Amino acid sequence: MADRRNDPVVVIGLGRFGSSLALELAHRGTEVLAIDSRPKIVQSMAGRLTHVATADSTDLEALRQLGVPDFYRAVVAIGTDLEASILTTSLLVELEVDDIWAKAVSREHGRILQRVGAHHVILPEHDMGERVAHLLNGRIFDYMEVDQNYALVKIRPPREYIGVPLGESNLRRKYGVTVVCVKGQDEEFTYAGAETVLAYGDVIVIAGKVDQVERFAELP
Ligand code: ADP
Repeated sequence: MADRRNDPVVVIGLGRFGSSLALELAHRGTEVLAIDSRPKIVQSMAGRLTHVATADSTDLEALRQLGVPDFYRAVVAIGTDLEASILTTSLLVELEVDDIWAKAVSREHGRILQRVGAHHVILPEHDMGERVAHLLNGRIFDYMEVDQNYALVKIRPPREYIGVPLGESNLRRKYGVTVVCVKGQDEEFTYAGAETVLAYGDVIVIAGKVDQVERFAELP
């Protein structure tokens, strides 16, 4: 299958989320067509993005004229105006855009977007809230849910796993988590193996189901 990761992207809605996304994509060398119905916001982005247009994305003809059907990927970054968000997503489906991402402001909104045909639904505020809760909650330095129930977590190793080779620690059987990599003090991260022995001051990245990594991260 062709690698489409650098294909141009159309971003619809230049609020806080959409404009950060469009600028970051452009910064990383991806061609972006950014659309918003407010001329003022379009003007303010014009110097920073190559292709910006003022248009109402609930107007099928306007989307056609902007060449949206030629795009492989599109992001609907309209949040608060539910009607516009849902209608825009359904028009992108009608125009047969292959990879549609849509931002939702609630789980219910997300469910509707999925039903309408969005391929990926993002809940930025909800996801960030969850992430910050984990970061605030004690020993976790970083937390990333890579799938609905699977997470990568950066923590200090619990006391009982210090000084024992990972292969002999029973960690995977007891807690269901895997140590992916280790970083010693003033060192860089390296892959962890059965022979890796953890030390005080190390930082590790573990992978596992959400409840299992949480349980492991709570060990003293
Ligand atoms: P955020 O919370 O990320 O700031 P908002 O939902 O507040 O997101 O912003 C969405 C953006 O989408 C606004 O800039 C708004 O002008 C734009 N927008 C809303 N409806 C349409 C539409 N029908 N066509 C194009 N742009 C729209």
